[in-house]
Amino acid sequence: RVVLGIETSCDETAVGVVDDARSILAHEVYSQLDEHALYEGVVPEIAARAHVERLDILVEKALRTAGLRLGDMAAIAVTGGPGLIGGLVVGTASAKALAAVLGKPLLVVNHLAAHALTARLTDGIAFPYLLLLVSGGHSQLLAVHGADRFERLGTTIDDAAGEAFDKVAKMLGLGYPGGPRLEALARFGDPTRFDLPRPLSRHAGCDLSFSGLKTAVRTTILSLGEEGAHEATRADLAASFQTAVADSLSARTRRAIALMEARYGGGLPLVVAGGVAANGVVRQALAGLAAEHAMPFIAPPITLCGDNGAMVAWAGIERLELGAGDPLDSLTRARWPLDMSASPRIGSGQ
Ligand code: ATP
Ligand code: MG
Ligand code: FE
Repeated sequence: RVVLGIETSCDETAVGVVDDARSILAHEVYSQLDEHALYEGVVPEIAARAHVERLDILVEKALRTAGLRLGDMAAIAVTGGPGLIGGLVVGTASAKALAAVLGKPLLVVNHLAAHALTARLTDGIAFPYLLLLVSGGHSQLLAVHGADRFERLGTTIDDAAGEAFDKVAKMLGLGYPGGPRLEALARFGDPTRFDLPRPLSRHAGCDLSFSGLKTAVRTTILSLGEEGAHEATRADLAASFQTAVADSLSARTRRAIALMEARYGGGLPLVVAGGVAANGVVRQALAGLAAEHAMPFIAPPITLCGDNGAMVAWAGIERLELGAGDPLDSLTRARWPLDMSASPRIGSGQ
């Protein structure tokens, strides 16, 4: 069975075609970088309009790449939230129209579930597994029990990891998109030069925090004065920040591992997902942690870390296998916590 997946929740317009044997037949992503660069961040109205302009083209392109026709699809999957509501409406309206015309099931997918299930698409791992989900809007540690069963072990009490990367990148004058640019600059820097905090390191539980770290970077920049403008200093600061994030993520993940080991014994997979999972230093820190605990470590290929349609198509396949299909009056939701994965309907209240 082949499913087409549509992703429009933020600033990537993306369409993927995936089959239930875990083959990615098409994976088309249009990142709206030029549209938002001037504003150094995502502008919701501009994003929604760009999705309208691109989506049909990407659907056609994905089908051409896959060598298939719409009629070959077993279902149409689409991100229904969480995300920017304008973009979500564009994606779901399109998906509903396709599903209605084809007479095929509509699968409204939670965007975070799509990130969370990517490791099953790429590596075919079984449930349960421990997941660190680190993206632009979310940072969570989750026990994943099933395609629709997520147990939150910890979450950020302030900023998301990706948000911290983006804000610090802005402070360093790197512009948008922040994460990848910061990583590129940090490559030339000394990660030991600035002693930045590791938030919550002495706290019990699995919650995360990045706002104190971000403020420490700001204070450091102010204290540096003119020197802060030097390329080498900025690289050192970027590297020191990146290492602090990686340390902090692995320290909090270590606690979640202890929790999982107490419950299930050792050896469950450790999975990282979301845009920040593309970061080499973060991946390396988590790989080391997994090795220490004899856990298989799974990080998606870089192209599947950020937003994409293949992960949405795959999450759709997982829903389809659970016997799920969603009504054409399904709503989009700007907020949609993972532990409430059923899709809402008109009348059921948001
Ligand atoms: P969410 O998934 O929470 O709804 P989102 O979809 O906007 O948010 P993603 O597309 O999953 O987030 O990830 C984007 C985030 O990942 C951005 O904050 C970006 O800076 C960050 N990111 C991307 N590449 C890297 C990298 N190499 N290093 C650090 N951060 C990165
Ligand atoms: Mg994005
Ligand atoms: Fe995302």
